[in-house]
Amino acid sequence: MSAREPAARPYDVVVAGSANADLVVRVERRPASGETVAGSDLATFPGGKGANQAVAAARLGARTALLGRVGDDGHGALLRASLERDGVDVSRLAATPGPTGVALITVGPEGDNSIIVSPGANARLTEEDVAGAADLIGAARVLSLQLEVPLPAVLAAARAAEAAGTRVVFNPSPPAPVPAGLLALCDPLIVNEHEAAFLLGEDAPEDPEERASALLTLGPRSVVVTLGAEGAVVAGEGRVPSPRVTAVDTTGAGDAFTGALAWRLARGDGLREAAVFAARVGAAAVRRPGAQSSFPTAEEVEAL
Ligand code: ADP
Repeated sequence: MSAREPAARPYDVVVAGSANADLVVRVERRPASGETVAGSDLATFPGGKGANQAVAAARLGARTALLGRVGDDGHGALLRASLERDGVDVSRLAATPGPTGVALITVGPEGDNSIIVSPGANARLTEEDVAGAADLIGAARVLSLQLEVPLPAVLAAARAAEAAGTRVVFNPSPPAPVPAGLLALCDPLIVNEHEAAFLLGEDAPEDPEERASALLTLGPRSVVVTLGAEGAVVAGEGRVPSPRVTAVDTTGAGDAFTGALAWRLARGDGLREAAVFAARVGAAAVRRPGAQSSFPTAEEVEAL
């Protein structure tokens, strides 16, 4: 057993992050300003990057909790119930006066998305909330973070993890500037090509392996760059292939990858080994529509 005593920790993966209700309407075309168009019936799906990653890990067998905020409305109750069905511990998902975060999604005739995110309760996750949940973070082997909740809360969570010897996995999405002090705690930093280009700016090399190495110079302890159908790169450890599948809907593929990677790191896998498994989970997730609805069980990954 390592000095971190992972076996004594009751959670494999704790996620501090967002939960959104995804409200989806299909349209023939989008309305111009001042115009009204008719759409399909409304479909409501559980989403948000934090909840997605927690569900991805839980479905594979991880003991998982989500630290965050939902509103005191119907969407909040729906998200909580859905997370519970997947076995995610929601005892630290606080109900906050006001609306739950929502993503208003229109899907056009070509399957193209346009999305408005209203952060709602996610925007109310504070440093104090995180400080009050230091015991939960310390009870996890891995803490998974994204940027759909305020940066001060993300930073506080990463620092609490560092203090407790909990490994930090960070996916800076949606892309925003990240302080060097936060990057330095990531093991790994996980980005898709778009997020990598944002962090590297104009100096981003074209070659994915060089890109991953360039990200390493920004300070994280390790780096994984995901490449869609092309799999991923682990900085300094080369390419990881993704199984060839027929992609139906790539929504949430990155979250499936990150949740799976966090779970395998919690189990003690090396980073490359974990990334090989996560790429299989990402590939499995693009074969079905939706985000959480597409995430596979361990048996389904085995069968791929
Ligand atoms: P994001 O969803 O954040 O943009 P990616 O598109 O890079 O992230 O996808 C994450 C992972 O999901 C990839 O590393 C890969 O393993 C898997 N994946 C995504 N798209 C495909 C695809 N078309 N075919 C096979 N695997 C895919």
